[in-house]
Amino acid sequence: MQFKESAIRVGGQALDKSDAIAKVGELLVKSGNIEPGYIASMLAREEVANTYLGNGIAIPHGIPKDRELIRETGVAVLQLPEGVIWNNDERVHLVVGIAAKSDEHLTILSNLTDVLDDAEEAKRLATTTDAGDIARRLSGGQDVAADAAAAEDAPQEYELGFEHVVTSPHGLHARPATALVDLSKRFDANILVRNKNKVGDAKSLIGLLKLGIEKDATIRISAEGPDAAKALEAIFNALAEGLEDEEEAAAEASVGAPIALEAIAYEGPVIKAISASPGIAMGPVCQLQRGRIVVAEKSSATAKAELQRLEAAVLQGKAELSALHDDMLAKQGAGKAAIFKAQGEFLDDPEMLGKARALISDGASAGWAWKESYEEHAEALSAIKDEILSARALDLRDVGRRLLKLLADKVEDDPDLPDSPIILVADDLTPSDTAGLDPNLVLGLCTASGGPTSHTAIIARSLDIPAVVGAGTDCLALEDGMHVILDGASGLLVTGPTEKDFAAAGMARNAYEQQAEAERNACYQPAIMRDGHRIEVVANIGNVEEANAAVVAGGEGVGLLRTEFQFLQRDTEPTEDEQYEAISAMIRAMNGLPMIIRTLDIGGDKDVPYLSTPEEMNPFLGVRGIRLCLLRDDIFRTQLRAIFRASRHGPIRIMYPMISSLDELRAAKAITEEVRQQVGADPVEIGMMIEIPSAVMMAEEFAREVDFFSIGTNDLTQYALAMDRMHPQLAKMADGLNPAVLRLIRKTVEAADAAGIWVGACGGIAGDPLGAMILTGLGVHELSVSIPAIASVKAKVRSLSMQEVRAFATRALACTEASEVRALK
Ligand code: PEP
Ligand code: MG
Repeated sequence: MQFKESAIRVGGQALDKSDAIAKVGELLVKSGNIEPGYIASMLAREEVANTYLGNGIAIPHGIPKDRELIRETGVAVLQLPEGVIWNNDERVHLVVGIAAKSDEHLTILSNLTDVLDDAEEAKRLATTTDAGDIARRLSGGQDVAADAAAAEDAPQEYELGFEHVVTSPHGLHARPATALVDLSKRFDANILVRNKNKVGDAKSLIGLLKLGIEKDATIRISAEGPDAAKALEAIFNALAEGLEDEEEAAAEASVGAPIALEAIAYEGPVIKAISASPGIAMGPVCQLQRGRIVVAEKSSATAKAELQRLEAAVLQGKAELSALHDDMLAKQGAGKAAIFKAQGEFLDDPEMLGKARALISDGASAGWAWKESYEEHAEALSAIKDEILSARALDLRDVGRRLLKLLADKVEDDPDLPDSPIILVADDLTPSDTAGLDPNLVLGLCTASGGPTSHTAIIARSLDIPAVVGAGTDCLALEDGMHVILDGASGLLVTGPTEKDFAAAGMARNAYEQQAEAERNACYQPAIMRDGHRIEVVANIGNVEEANAAVVAGGEGVGLLRTEFQFLQRDTEPTEDEQYEAISAMIRAMNGLPMIIRTLDIGGDKDVPYLSTPEEMNPFLGVRGIRLCLLRDDIFRTQLRAIFRASRHGPIRIMYPMISSLDELRAAKAITEEVRQQVGADPVEIGMMIEIPSAVMMAEEFAREVDFFSIGTNDLTQYALAMDRMHPQLAKMADGLNPAVLRLIRKTVEAADAAGIWVGACGGIAGDPLGAMILTGLGVHELSVSIPAIASVKAKVRSLSMQEVRAFATRALACTEASEVRALK
């Protein structure tokens, strides 16, 4: 992008904020960047989103739909030495007007971010009389073209290396930099240090100082050559010890931690297990003891009465599981909720119920009969040497015990966990066990059985608890209260740790926590890649609490509002006003950040009884999403009215789920437009989810009729692989990183690029660091992820360059299996 000095006015004056925006707009008009009409768009945007950045800088820009009024991407700066009041107490001295057709303005934004952190520099730029000074600062000390060329010419980093977070208050200043240079010179290897998108030679003091490494910077040190590993080890240790900086040496706790954690060589005895959730926990063992359920063999009641008790217990068991399912669905998503749905199916099993009924007819009590029956079936399942089927045996026992408790004469208490922190050890954990875990008290989880896709692993990861699984029965013999180290990353349980083991584990745990904290601290910084490409990281939400949490977690907007949550867990359809209130509250919570509202996606796993939709053989292939809305356009119109009424509270876009044909899209758009005109709302951007293979195959045509695509990788995977995403056996193979799915994503992006529209992704793999990297490499512009994943996805994106993710995605596309993609380094 051209950064024209003529587009900068120093020593300007403005009456108020609107006057300032109009004046900077005129500069953009004069420089040939925009049509005069774009100024109104800039003013309109300010109405809904305050563009004040901080340190006296604001960045007014227009509304996306008015992009056609931009002639050429450009930036203009109006300097106001006296300042103008922007909002409340915010006084702006630099008004940076942006007219951007696409992402080219982001280099400027990224340089602005630097100025934002530097109050002195901002002050200087607010009063300088040299326009060139501002131009140079905002283009990173040189013009943008030169900057891009420099990035191209910059020495490549080496593969072998590690990351380090600088926590010294002065950054890597002269003294530690000199020490690093001296140390590096002792090795033959070439050693490079990277800070953001700048790379310098570790053997050159000037080279290092020019990197401008400040506190909290994440730098990467990489090396190549015969003694590269040794050099890196020495630098790693030196950084950990504070690099001869007295202040740092004194304040050991402030020393930055490597982001890539090294495996620890423990001295004490270890039980080898499988890594299920990263992190390190230290604490006393607590063996899980489940409550004992007492049932009498014979009943004094009639067989008819016992049969009725059994039927009543089955109904109650189903109701409990359905409530657990809905709760999990709302809190953790369909994948985890599926477990309870599958468990409910056992309660319809004719063979198992038949056996129990037969025993009751022979005089057994309902509880005893049920126990005999489910135990026999569970045993038969676990005898089969198949990991998936034996996992089902665990589910069967879980649901069996749930019902048995309802039929019991006496139930001893549920697992009685201490109210102090523990490392919980169990044979395996059932979904019911894990649903009630308190992450503040359970420091770590270790199970004798299970694999990396077991319930324990999934739930531990979502609760961010370190866990190992498949540890074998040895772990069940450990005594309650004995202190152990659970190393989730290495998949080890250290049963007799030495002092040194505890010290090493403590350091590693701190490093892990520091990494998470560093990511959280940087969560408000944009996800700008090392070579300047920006990826928008936005959130998937379902309610106003999540809208608030998304903003706090650093979400740059909402990429998917699942409106169906407003329809679940209630007995009647929400009214238009109720929907309006809920959506308005979420838009307001986003405080000007954009929100994509997906219209109702009921059906499939999300069943709403009061809509009285007919029972279907294959609900995922039935009347779901947009199909339901087109069949029941009364529901659709009510929702659209609520959305359009709420649209005045902030920037929104509308997106349709489950579009499989152009007819559906056109019908949905026609209804949307009709409702919009009735409500009298302004037009909004309209997009569609790409989650059905037919939509991918017709993506060129679809792309001409919508403003954006968002790829629903969860459904796209299930429909492409013909694997029900809720299926207990198949779900773990329905991997969104399957190359077949990746090729569908590539085709979607190609079609979107050809039509000039943008593509996001909002399925589960967008929030997985590897998935985020591959999607970015495939050309996806926006990643919509679960709230806990926002900070880590942003950090991951920042650590990469477009060049490297493109190369990585190309390798992933060439794989033949998901496992091969997951094994790529
Ligand atoms: C998807 O299918 O990937 C998606 C994000 O939508 P949902 O999970 O709500 O079906
Ligand atoms: Mg979907």
